Amino acid sequence: MSFVIVGGGLAAATAAEALREGGYGGPLQLFAAEPHPPYIRPPLSKDYLLGKEGREGALVHPAEWWAEHDIEVRTGTEVEALGDHEVTLASGETVPFGRALLATGATARRLRIPGSDAAGIHTLRTIEDSEALRAELERGDRDVVFVGAGWIGLELAAAARGYGNRVTVVAPEAVPLGAALGDELGGVFRELHESNGVVFRLETKVTGFEVADGRVTGVVTDAGTVPADVVVVGIGAAPDTRLAEAAGLEVAEPREGGGILVDEHLATSAPDVFAAGDVANAFHPVIGQRMRNEHWATAIASGKVAAASMRGEDAVLDEIPYFYTDQYDLGMEYSGYPPLTRDARVVYRGDTAAREFVAFWLNGARVVAGMNVNVWDVNEQVQRLIREDRDVDIAKLTDPGVDLSEI
Ligand SMILES: Cc1cc2nc3c(=O)[nH]c(=O)nc-3n(C[C@H](O)[C@H](O)[C@H](O)COP(=O)(O)OP(=O)(O)OC[C@H]3O[C@@H](n4cnc5c(N)ncnc54)[C@H](O)[C@@H]3O)c2cc1C
Repeated sequence: MSFVIVGGGLAAATAAEALREGGYGGPLQLFAAEPHPPYIRPPLSKDYLLGKEGREGALVHPAEWWAEHDIEVRTGTEVEALGDHEVTLASGETVPFGRALLATGATARRLRIPGSDAAGIHTLRTIEDSEALRAELERGDRDVVFVGAGWIGLELAAAARGYGNRVTVVAPEAVPLGAALGDELGGVFRELHESNGVVFRLETKVTGFEVADGRVTGVVTDAGTVPADVVVVGIGAAPDTRLAEAAGLEVAEPREGGGILVDEHLATSAPDVFAAGDVANAFHPVIGQRMRNEHWATAIASGKVAAASMRGEDAVLDEIPYFYTDQYDLGMEYSGYPPLTRDARVVYRGDTAAREFVAFWLNGARVVAGMNVNVWDVNEQVQRLIREDRDVDIAKLTDPGVDLSEI
């Protein structure tokens, strides 16, 4: 039976590798719309953007690895349609398959407001986006305005400051990352950025851009205009469900997180078609709810599960979502189930003012998520506490003197 994989990101690459590692020896083609072999995106807002590593540092495997493993990677090849056990490429070529994986990822959301097509306005998703942004930021003497105060926007704000630019973050919410972390923890990130010279214009809506000679000169908001030589729009990503929708596969509503609906085995509503990575909205058997996570670790975990399912094994995606970020001298890891944190209360172990702590989200006395900030080698224990799903002694949990392994 032949397998095809649609997508050139980490989920696609991991699935291809796991298929071979798991013993699948049949024909395997991977179609990647971008002109590169599969690569990872986290460096694009970190070391690659800062010029600290080259393109090869972002590749999942060196270019020759794919042929060595008898995986046919067809770069610059967009799959245009998904039919009954066949895909049609943009060239018109039809490729039959026994089983297929959709790992089409997500694309950066854009603003559709006056002036938004002007030069100097960027989004960040691809290697080329990162290179274009680096060329603007490395001059170091510019007014850079970030629209949006999410994870990627804030990482980029740190990078822009690192190059010495003047940085303003404009966002509609009252606290950066408030929706993801709550106001108190969002405030930790606000202070971090302010102490590094970033200016926040919060509770402020962007309505357009000032443009001169085709290039952006300012960000127009409901509270006045902010001068800008460079603008970065970081307002999230949208799952790329075009192929799946056109083929009639079930997809989630945007209010449910969007994405292709899959079960815990990552099977879609179409026979022999699976989905993984950013584009998959998967049923999580541990919490009994659906989730779509845009995380590097989920791309790996779901790529492996999809490969096992394609091989006919009984695999389920039951990992605890995990992600990390680095901003200035702050490093953080987060593990947990976002749907369970909505009504949770947050308790702390360590010193939030010194930005060296672990935050735990509790439902009653059960840990549903944890975030370690500049505290290392605790993620395994945080994940264990979440997985054990039992009442914990909160006094001990919040006492840095008690080893987490004893809780
Ligand atoms: C700048 C940036 C920084 C990030 N930093 C972090 C981080 O610090 N920590 C973290 O956990 N996560 C981070 N992420 C998120 C992480 O990179 C994603 O979760 C991960 O890339 C998802 O992998 P994927 O394979 O599902 O999708 P993608 O990486 O989006 O890859 C999908 C690929 O499929 C291709 N494709 C789409 N449609 C077709 C088609 N029809 N035919 C052929 N090819 C197609 C696309 O061109 C794309 O190359 C970051 C993301 C970005 C953009």
